[in-house]
Amino acid sequence: LPRIVVAGNGQLGQMLQQAGAPMQLKVMPVEPNQDIEVALHADDVITVEVEHWPDTVTGLQLKNHPNFRNASALHAVIDRQRQKSLLDQLQVPTAPWVDLDSEASLTEKLESLGERAVVKRRRGGYDGRGQWRWQRGGEVEAEWAETCIAEAMIPFSHEVSLVGARNAKGEKVFYPLTRNWHENGILRASVAGLDVPQEQQDSAEEWLSRIMDDQNYIGVMAMECFVVDGQLLVNELAPRVHNSGHWTQEGATISQFELHLRALAELPLIKPEIKGVSVMYNLLGRTWKTEWLGIDGVHVHWYGKSLRPGRKVGHVNINRPTLAQLEESLKALKELVDDEDRIAFDWSLEQL
Ligand code: ATP
Ligand code: MG
Ligand code: MG
Repeated sequence: LPRIVVAGNGQLGQMLQQAGAPMQLKVMPVEPNQDIEVALHADDVITVEVEHWPDTVTGLQLKNHPNFRNASALHAVIDRQRQKSLLDQLQVPTAPWVDLDSEASLTEKLESLGERAVVKRRRGGYDGRGQWRWQRGGEVEAEWAETCIAEAMIPFSHEVSLVGARNAKGEKVFYPLTRNWHENGILRASVAGLDVPQEQQDSAEEWLSRIMDDQNYIGVMAMECFVVDGQLLVNELAPRVHNSGHWTQEGATISQFELHLRALAELPLIKPEIKGVSVMYNLLGRTWKTEWLGIDGVHVHWYGKSLRPGRKVGHVNINRPTLAQLEESLKALKELVDDEDRIAFDWSLEQL
């Protein structure tokens, strides 16, 4: 088996490493933002957990390796202007948008989107950073607008995401749509294993297939969607394993991390089976308590990072065979988490 080298050494690389461990599949996360020559082998396969990094010695070494995967998809996704254009070109429905490249007619462009818009930096934003809400009559600053796109504010009923994988032969597999709750642009919780309308699942799979095929993509890709009147609109793509797929660690026979490794290492890609129902709850700037482990179906994933307010430092998967059992575990865990986090449990319970 080839060694899998991951650009980035955060929690995603760590979890890829964990997924490779039972097979002794070597996964080596590498910090790209450093000027050190790292020892890469010719047959290593390079993947990413971050979408961009500077042209450092290590950064260039990774990017220029002959087995660097998905350069084209990364190029397309890294910049929201290019990403939205790609989706338009592939006729995948997204929120109406405009490019705010020039100062001229800035207000006019924004007004063309309706009463409210979301202005997003073209590059570098994540967890809702680099975004502003705009309302008709609101101020527009030309200097920052230059590097942004704007999207119409979508009055969605909820958000879902599709996580899927494709291998070099073009075979593809998908998980069922996951329901996600974001607060201030950051994912708080996901629910998976609920009944999903078949038309939504089919459209989502069809679109993500089109995108992955177009890019000759290898590995796991995630597609975030808004649900409006029962119809899906794509929000954005993530060319990597994704936070909304973390529930698959306990909630599926093959996790998104293993699926990504299988696609990259040319191992059989088969459809993961779903085990019961799951909730994933993000630990944002909070520690966990050992007593949580006394609740059925609770699995703590702690990243070992230092604690800062709002920082993703871990997640908890709650997986149970039935809805009634999941409800029981959620209610029990809700009593043991910080007061500010009970809201994530209220949301999850409402979805069941
Ligand atoms: P991620 O951490 O997922 O990469 P991000 O910073 O790239 O997030 P987006 O996914 O674009 O940001 O937006 C974050 C959240 O903000 C969305 O999940 C959604 O809740 C809200 N949002 C973004 N765009 C819109 C929109 N056009 N209309 C309504 N809400 C939106
Ligand atoms: Mg994003
Ligand atoms: Mg997002």
